[in-house]
Amino acid sequence: MKLYSTNNNQNIVSFRHAIEQGIAEDGGLFMPVEIPKPESTFFQEISHYSFNEIAFYILRAFLNDEIPDNDLENLVSKTFTFNAPLVKLAGGPNILELFHGPTLAFKDFGARFMANTLSYFIKNENKELTILVATSGDTGSAVANGFYNVDGIKVIILYPSKKVSNIQEKQLTTLGNNISALEIEGTFDDCQRLVRQAFTDSSLKEKLRLSSANSINFARLLPQSFYYYSAYARLEDKTKPFIVSVPSGNFGNLTAGLIAKKTGLPVDMFIAATNVNDIVPEYLETGSYNPRTSVQTISNAMDVGNPSNFARIMALFSNRHDIVRENIYGASFSDELTREAIKEVREKYNYIIDPHGAVGYLAIKKFTDGNFEKFNTAVLETAHPAKFIDVMEDVLNEKLIIPERLAECLNKEKHSVRLSSKYDEFRSYLYAL
Ligand SMILES: *Cc1c(COP(=O)(O)O)cnc(C)c1O
Repeated sequence: MKLYSTNNNQNIVSFRHAIEQGIAEDGGLFMPVEIPKPESTFFQEISHYSFNEIAFYILRAFLNDEIPDNDLENLVSKTFTFNAPLVKLAGGPNILELFHGPTLAFKDFGARFMANTLSYFIKNENKELTILVATSGDTGSAVANGFYNVDGIKVIILYPSKKVSNIQEKQLTTLGNNISALEIEGTFDDCQRLVRQAFTDSSLKEKLRLSSANSINFARLLPQSFYYYSAYARLEDKTKPFIVSVPSGNFGNLTAGLIAKKTGLPVDMFIAATNVNDIVPEYLETGSYNPRTSVQTISNAMDVGNPSNFARIMALFSNRHDIVRENIYGASFSDELTREAIKEVREKYNYIIDPHGAVGYLAIKKFTDGNFEKFNTAVLETAHPAKFIDVMEDVLNEKLIIPERLAECLNKEKHSVRLSSKYDEFRSYLYAL
């Protein structure tokens, strides 16, 4: 597989290079030079395929020149140990549940795939890889879990002390083994600064082989396309238009859907569903892109003011606003409407939807005018509602059931090392590893 940088299409690298490097040297994002098409029988027979079979077919189409079939099959079965069920709400839209992974959010698909692929590529090298991740909450736990007990890789997570939720902190600090958590006395920006500084510290890099697990890594994007195919596979009547609503922040999830469509998946419209951080819906409406400081909302994983995957979307559609609009419909909603939607879904459909999924629900309701039966629908439910227990219990006025895998980690003891936000301290810590 060949990838180019969105800043310079002459800068071409292999998949292995793209995953190890994360971001292109020129600061651009990696995108496939060519989007392959799976065999022609694939879409005809897709209803019979399991999630893992779909994953294998698509990966083979992209990666057959770099990873042999046997190894790909192993990679798939090791990575996707959980499913993405399409739940049909009677009289309502279909919900694509993406929270059945270890950290209860869709980021598990990307993070686990990236971890296992990286481990596969470096398995014959004898120098251990140290991954540094700064997190404001959710990404860190998906990455940490993805790399948990993966051979040859050590993970150091930096998170801002007292600025992540109790659940998030437990998810970051209770794994142990090859995962270490650093509680930084400072902000998320301080954590990011420390990581960046380590990457430019040449004497440190002589001692440690450093890498990042940044969310813009193409290896995290690609596996996020698989559940769009599996949702389509589970539709009964495939003749109706297929509309997919994607609660979005950095737009990685939606970009993965667009890539699936380019391989031939028949999606008629993607919906970019956002909270009041509506930079992309505004672009769709007006044609001008105005990044700005993000505003805090109850769907906080989507509080993004300058979505990093926007460059990828533009690259997919040759920078043409009219073509982007043919493929993506935008809609944004306030916290007040999101709260009402959580209640509505509970009352009308007896389903508990999290604040991010609720934004997706509002958007598809707007697009279809509530006539869900005329379409094939899928609302991506990006996280389990128990991850946002305070908001959920407040809105619904009822106690939520906490899934076992979350309850388990809440009962474990936190292990973290507390450091100031000074680089010297962080550096000494890394030297002592
Ligand atoms: C990360 C995240 C999103 C946003 O996904 P993007 O790919 O950044 O658009 C939405 N919901 C939840 C729960 C998330 O964790």
